[in-house]
Amino acid sequence: MRVDVVTIFPDYLAALDLSLVGKARRAGLLDLRVHDLRDWTADRHRTVDDTPFGGGAGMVMRPDVWGRALDDVLPEPGADVTGHLVVPTPAGEVFTQRHAEALAREEHVVLACGRYEGIDARVVEHARSAGHRVSELSIGDYVLNGGEVAALVMIEAFGRLLPGVVGNPHSLVEESHGAAGLLEYPVYTKPPSWEGLEVPEVLLSGHHARIDRWRRDRALARTAARRPDMLRVLEVDSLDAADLAVLAELGWVVDDGRLRTVAE
Ligand code: SAM
Repeated sequence: MRVDVVTIFPDYLAALDLSLVGKARRAGLLDLRVHDLRDWTADRHRTVDDTPFGGGAGMVMRPDVWGRALDDVLPEPGADVTGHLVVPTPAGEVFTQRHAEALAREEHVVLACGRYEGIDARVVEHARSAGHRVSELSIGDYVLNGGEVAALVMIEAFGRLLPGVVGNPHSLVEESHGAAGLLEYPVYTKPPSWEGLEVPEVLLSGHHARIDRWRRDRALARTAARRPDMLRVLEVDSLDAADLAVLAELGWVVDDGRLRTVAE
């Protein structure tokens, strides 16, 4: 997979040399290229921003500079390799594991990191009308100073889903926000007793069926307590009789193909 990041702070992306993403780059699983937007400026001061039309605070990133950069970095629409332009913005759709899964299936992703008050709105409009796929994505309901941290978040999230990046692919299966639609169960390691706190006995039993059941119960209970919104949209067909019994104890029932609390 090829990923290009365009930014005025290329050094911000140095963290992508570390850990699993860095390893994936060195192994040739991820061809990641970071570009300085200022390389596409045409003036002595390498200007990328200007004052907003209509007045108001702050500066806006110029469309001509971004246009030249994206023309060079995005594959031609209709080319053999298809590209997907991702524009991080707090005004975008909220980035989830589903977006990460979809991006991990792409051949070429380009991330355009804004700064200041953001990128002139015509850049996205132009990319769409030129036939590129464009996603404006937010990493959450707060405002960062720039898109670099958001790009790091997204690359880390989809990069670890590329085949071969995470050593044991089974560890992706039961994770929070994975196919099960639940949060993951709590995890423990050695020592079995620490600061007066014991690892649940079942995990030391070696009894795999009991361990699986315990983990599934904890995942259901944790999701009910912390993210009831996830239970409300869970596919009820994915639940077995034991799941339904645990959920009933927690005050959840199936009603018209969906889970709801008894109090609702
Ligand atoms: N004026 C913009 C607004 O209110 O929607 C905010 C601009 S923000 C200061 C500068 C840049 O940071 C944005 O262009 C975007 O690249 C990035 N950014 C800020 N918050 C973000 C978020 N929650 N998710 C993704 N990118 C974000």
